[in-house]
Amino acid sequence: MSSHDVIIVGAGPSGSMAALVLARAGRRVALLDRAAFPRAKVCGNCINPSAWKIWEHLGLTEAFSALPHREMTGFTLRSEGRLLYRHTFRPPRRGPRAVARDVLDDWLRREAESAGAEFFPETTVTGIDPAAGTVQTSAGAFSGELILGADGRNSLVARQCGLMPPPRRCHRVAWQATIPAPADLDDAIHMHLFEEGYFGYCRYSPTEAVISMVLDARRTQNPLWLARRFFPDLPEQDWLRMNPITRAPARLKAGRVWLVGDSARVVEPFTGEGIYFGLSTALLAADAALAGFAQNDFKAAFQTYAHRHGRLYRRRVWVNTLMRWALETPSRTVRLLRKIKPAPALVSFLSDRIHAS
Ligand SMILES: Cc1cc2nc3c(=O)[nH]c(=O)nc-3n(C[C@H](O)[C@H](O)[C@H](O)COP(=O)(O)OP(=O)(O)OC[C@H]3O[C@@H](n4cnc5c(N)ncnc54)[C@H](O)[C@@H]3O)c2cc1C
Repeated sequence: MSSHDVIIVGAGPSGSMAALVLARAGRRVALLDRAAFPRAKVCGNCINPSAWKIWEHLGLTEAFSALPHREMTGFTLRSEGRLLYRHTFRPPRRGPRAVARDVLDDWLRREAESAGAEFFPETTVTGIDPAAGTVQTSAGAFSGELILGADGRNSLVARQCGLMPPPRRCHRVAWQATIPAPADLDDAIHMHLFEEGYFGYCRYSPTEAVISMVLDARRTQNPLWLARRFFPDLPEQDWLRMNPITRAPARLKAGRVWLVGDSARVVEPFTGEGIYFGLSTALLAADAALAGFAQNDFKAAFQTYAHRHGRLYRRRVWVNTLMRWALETPSRTVRLLRKIKPAPALVSFLSDRIHAS
């Protein structure tokens, strides 16, 4: 059995961020992921400007800035093809930065390795004993003082440890495709709302754009058909699929296991805040864990993590919750938007809350 201080399941933004902070502090960290990196991921590729303070805090601003990217200058919102708003991010506000997820996640994973974390790709976790702190994987067993579940919205860690709430029916499914960026596509995020769901569309490199879509699977399972309603010339693409979109938050702890990122709580993709929440919760968990190691008191350490985790979401998730309410039944929202158009000042206010830097 391979023994470490901390075993981290999942090398997405939250797992790699936690690995980086813990390894920098001298902890022996095993970072496990079932995928070979770099790997693709269903995402709109937009990193919320709130993440800048995290890069600054960790001295990663320069390295993050060096990743291939596009700076988003604003957003548009359309309902059934009709333009409702065009919003420009004005200084001191910054827009999100679009970076391909395979690039972002591979960079963070490499930063964690440079800090001393051991990375185990193509290592699928199949079982967990939270009381003993052991993890069974396709590449053998691991043990740790602490296990962080950072394995995303369908977290096996949460399910195996009994932390996942009972499944709620969620008919919405996410789809994502990379497409050649049309020459006239600007650097705004283009959000389209329609009766079956919504999609966001943005350029993330000189030649490529990403479409990420959330569809009611009862109405259609064909993202290309829907996308062609708005872009008739869209070529055939491979679409990645993911669900559920919405689920209740998981409990954060069982035995030696703590959850971070999407495994603990998912937010509505519309506002592009999931990566920020993943990075932030990983940072909070890693800081609390380091205090736990220093004082040999993981009970108090977890209480600190749970308290800060709750506060982080309470402070800013309300806009996302409002969006989720509007988007869970998009046909109702589209009908409403035919009759009333919320004032631009309200849209600016909400945007400022989402893109707080
Ligand atoms: C349609 C859509 C669009 C989105 N757009 C945006 C956006 O523009 N901006 C934004 O900030 N957020 C966006 N999000 C949310 C964002 O993708 C997530 O919040 C973010 O990826 C969470 O990071 P994470 O590290 O917690 O989990 P993940 O990124 O999901 O990483 C989990 C990792 O765990 C690994 N794993 C899973 N199971 C196992 C196992 N059994 N054994 C080993 N490894 C395992 C996976 O391979 C993966 O690498 C979007 C989400 C959706 C669905």
